[in-house]
Amino acid sequence: MELNTSVQYLTGVGPVMAKKLKRLGIQNIRDLLFYFPRRWDDYSKPQMISKLQIGQDAIIKASIVQIKQTRTRRRWMSIIDALLADDSGQIRAIWFNQPFLMKTLKPGSEWLFAGKVNYDFKTGAKTLSISNYEKEPIILPIYPETEGLTSKYLRKIIRPLMSDVDNLIIDFLPDGIKKQEGLIDLKEAIKNIHFPRETSNILESQQRLGFDELFLISLRMAERKNELQKEMAPAMNIDKDFLKEFVNKLTFRLTNAQRKAAWEIICDLAKKTPMNRLLEGEVGSGKTVVAAMAAAVTTKNSYQAIWLAPTEILANQHYQNVSKILMPFEIKVGLLTAANKLADLLKDNLIIGTHALIQKDVSFPRLGLIIVDEQHRFGVKQRAHLRKQKDLIPHLLSMTATPIPRTLALSLYGDLELSILDELPPGRQKIITKAIDPRNRYQAYEAIREEIKKGRQAFVICPLIEDSKISTEKLFDMDKKSVKSEYQKLSKNIFPEFKIGMLHGRLKSKEKGKIMKDFSVGKLNLIVSTAVVEVGIDVPNATVMMIEGADRFGLAQLHQFRGRVGRGKHQSYCFLFADSWSENTKKRLEAMVNCNNGFELAEKDLQIRGPGELIGIRQSGLPDLKMASLRDIILVKKAREVAEEIFAGGIGQYPKLQKKLAEFERETHLE
Ligand code: ADP
Ligand code: MG
Repeated sequence: MELNTSVQYLTGVGPVMAKKLKRLGIQNIRDLLFYFPRRWDDYSKPQMISKLQIGQDAIIKASIVQIKQTRTRRRWMSIIDALLADDSGQIRAIWFNQPFLMKTLKPGSEWLFAGKVNYDFKTGAKTLSISNYEKEPIILPIYPETEGLTSKYLRKIIRPLMSDVDNLIIDFLPDGIKKQEGLIDLKEAIKNIHFPRETSNILESQQRLGFDELFLISLRMAERKNELQKEMAPAMNIDKDFLKEFVNKLTFRLTNAQRKAAWEIICDLAKKTPMNRLLEGEVGSGKTVVAAMAAAVTTKNSYQAIWLAPTEILANQHYQNVSKILMPFEIKVGLLTAANKLADLLKDNLIIGTHALIQKDVSFPRLGLIIVDEQHRFGVKQRAHLRKQKDLIPHLLSMTATPIPRTLALSLYGDLELSILDELPPGRQKIITKAIDPRNRYQAYEAIREEIKKGRQAFVICPLIEDSKISTEKLFDMDKKSVKSEYQKLSKNIFPEFKIGMLHGRLKSKEKGKIMKDFSVGKLNLIVSTAVVEVGIDVPNATVMMIEGADRFGLAQLHQFRGRVGRGKHQSYCFLFADSWSENTKKRLEAMVNCNNGFELAEKDLQIRGPGELIGIRQSGLPDLKMASLRDIILVKKAREVAEEIFAGGIGQYPKLQKKLAEFERETHLE
């Protein structure tokens, strides 16, 4: 047996079970060993019957006073009804549909029982709905289950593997590091995460396995950084007079954050090693001018710059804004669109476009700088591919509007340098944000009508493009808003007097472009859109952002939507509607209402929903974490420090680790 051996070879796993396991992402022995329990039931520390609380998952050690089997009148289900007792008291216990238990559970015998404590409405007493019973005081793993795969079954196939762990698993972590960080052996960790002998084993295992995940990511980042530092880039000359002139010719004063970021970037451009920098700043923080400054420095050094936007709409908008900023400096700016030929643009100093710009087989004769919007990683290979002079690779500046807390960013983007715009230009208005009770929906519509009558414009964001089949079948599920049905409703019933447009990802980019254009020149009063409107759109006359199904979006994303309004001089509003009002939703919407700072909201999102939901994290291209939590900032930091230490000392000293890292790169495609 090897780690790659298919689970089908295990006893108890036939084709049917193999298929079910596959649904959980388990195909081979490795997957199974690394399928970690969700929690553990500790039969070694039973609770006293007298202390049980309603609603609690409890384990008791009790003897059977009486036991009998009955059947329900409806559906004729088997019920075992028992009276259990320990020294502290008695409780009624119930099993459903397990008549065979009558043979084992004899009156007078003593067992450990796990179950949920319920309240019996008839008698007013507590009862225990039993889920499992054991003779021995063990600790049992409870796995994340899906249909047809119970924890019991998973235990049955995982337990026999425990005796193979010593042969199968190689601990790649150097002994010195384990000692220094107080981490246990990997073999121990795997055995103990499934079948711990005592609860303290669990924590040790979690520490070790969690450390590994973060450590490998950090190591890969350190390696990427190192790979890049071996490359050469065009070192630019910094002309301070030009910089002064540039700043003086702007129509506004740069914020301190902008100055600092611009200077960091320009210093990077002056170096022979390629810049790899992420400019992080929430919507409206003024990233464009900072990037334009970098482009200007590049072109003044007779190098070319390209600027990649995620969509054509945004490319067009950048083109408009950047051309304006660069106008006084005789810098030729080109825009690649479906209509323009790249060949005609190659002579321009700065070319703006979507990724189509680099997908064609072109190379840019004197490429000095690549600016990428909303794509955080851009491989060295990708960059090298664009270089013409084979010995020089272009500098890279990526930008994101996702405010990722700094500690997190340092780990996720350990290969990047960070510049943060944590300050908005002065005079920005506060957007009035309201979470709206569904009963007051029409008041919100009236508010929109008032705004539009005043000449303003509005966005309505919906989570879906069309009503899903499921929701039309479920008659009561009419609240899930889709762009198409909302568009119908708003244009026919609510605002028949206004011009309304519809925007979503399935439209051709030409149509999208037209709608955005119509909206930005005021031909449309309102647009109903999916999240495609999220990044970058700049329509200063828009003052209302209404978000349907706000519970389905992360805080950072909601905040980005909100950033679409409040860009002009008029007071702006954000109305939030939710499909469900769970505690979590309430907390999150409250955070939106009370807080206008993107970094703070990101921090809250991290606490409330966890890191998986932070939008930037998916874009970061990192593998999912199974054990570690990015919320565990201490572990995150530790892993990064150790990785950098190891890397600086030369990873070649640790062949097992090096091999593991190579495997990790392949598996996770973390190029
Ligand atoms: P981002 O791309 O970070 O969302 P932009 O670069 O589009 O933000 O800037 C938003 C708006 O703020 C633009 O209209 C821009 O001209 C303006 N702006 C940028 N920097 C400043 C500043 N320092 N003072 C005043 N306005 C600014
Ligand atoms: Mg922008």
